[in-house]
Amino acid sequence: MTEEDFDTKRLHAGYRPEDHQYASSVPIYESAAFGFGTEARAEGIIGGTISGYSYTRNGNPTTKVLEDRIAALEGGVDAVAVGSGMAAITYTILNVAEGGGRILAPTNIYGASLDEFRTLFPKFNINFDFYDDVNDLETVKAAIKPDTKAIYVESVANPSTEVTDIEALAEIAHAHQIPLIVDNTFPTPYLLRPFEFGADIVVYSSTKGINGHGNVISGLVVDHGQFDWTNGKFPQFTEPEFTLGDEATGQQASFVEKFGASAFAARIQVKYVRLFGGLLSPFDAYLVLLGLETISERLTKEVANATAVAKYLSQNPHVKRVYYSGIESANPLVTKYLPKGIGAILAFELDGTAEQVATLLDHVKVFSYLPNVGDAKSLIVNPTKTTHREIPAAIRAKHALNDRVIRLSLGLESATDLIHDLEQAINQAFH
Ligand SMILES: *Cc1c(COP(=O)(O)O)cnc(C)c1O
Repeated sequence: MTEEDFDTKRLHAGYRPEDHQYASSVPIYESAAFGFGTEARAEGIIGGTISGYSYTRNGNPTTKVLEDRIAALEGGVDAVAVGSGMAAITYTILNVAEGGGRILAPTNIYGASLDEFRTLFPKFNINFDFYDDVNDLETVKAAIKPDTKAIYVESVANPSTEVTDIEALAEIAHAHQIPLIVDNTFPTPYLLRPFEFGADIVVYSSTKGINGHGNVISGLVVDHGQFDWTNGKFPQFTEPEFTLGDEATGQQASFVEKFGASAFAARIQVKYVRLFGGLLSPFDAYLVLLGLETISERLTKEVANATAVAKYLSQNPHVKRVYYSGIESANPLVTKYLPKGIGAILAFELDGTAEQVATLLDHVKVFSYLPNVGDAKSLIVNPTKTTHREIPAAIRAKHALNDRVIRLSLGLESATDLIHDLEQAINQAFH
């Protein structure tokens, strides 16, 4: 996909104005249910032989535009919108390892993901094999077991900004007939599209950069449509499925038979969203669509701001280390995967004490002190006390996460004002 294609799709893909009174803004279908009209039409909609809507938990026209748009932007066959990034991750893991199995994942992942993987999924008979260095390919190869169902990674680590070698991990996964799942929240599809490097499923917290305004909690699952679910390891996609049956003939179909390449996304929609119920509201889908319209301009400016701030911090005598792989001139993974920039998030270690970190946080005026990223406003947080608190200390230590590390998410303010704000707050801390 060229940059021009992307820029056009983020505004138009998945939406046919002629189906909606030629409304220029995607209408919000804030309706729990949709009339069938006639009995024959009801039969067609429920039976899946004609397209249409019946009940918003089963599908909604506003949400569908978001799903189709993100699938187009990502280069996938289908997508499912859900109520949060965690719902997207949860449904994806359940869908791939339903009934039990193992997943391979690095330890440097989002705090709630790590907590869920360590403490909750094992209760559902889904167990994780963790490893420390996301790009340690030999360890990955050695850790795959007969019942391993997927490799799960994040494309850019939080907050170290280490870049994942997606193509190498996809090759290993495919050699073992398992999919590679990538949480691509930090770069967004504007900066990186993991399917172009062989990933099979991409998940997002669209709470962050995709929406970009800090006003919605939402998640997305995107299906590349290339993985072969019929290889014997994933019976949930090939077994006859009661809900896909044809009552008149008594014929049952599997997800692969009925949905082909989009079996994975379809199964999340039909089983998990419809039955577990964690859908995205049409109003929130509308807000995500609105945010998405300016994704290219937002990310371009945020990357420029993050780069300027990272360069400023790396010259500051009170800063011990800056974590922003985007300014590492000779990092081949950055050149390969993120040539337009690694994103809006960076971290730095203050050359001081935890008390000085607290003073700094107390004195920022432009930055907002809160646990989020990817907002149009610049954000600051101390991960070990907040966002990464649920990560065990031993794991934090392995990823250089100590109580002097501060994470920033750069917004759209002036870089000069942001740098001045940090400068005065650092000066207060070292007063
Ligand atoms: C925020 C985040 C999540 C969780 O998303 P929610 O929308 O908060 O549920 C998952 N992964 C990453 C990388 C995140 O930053």
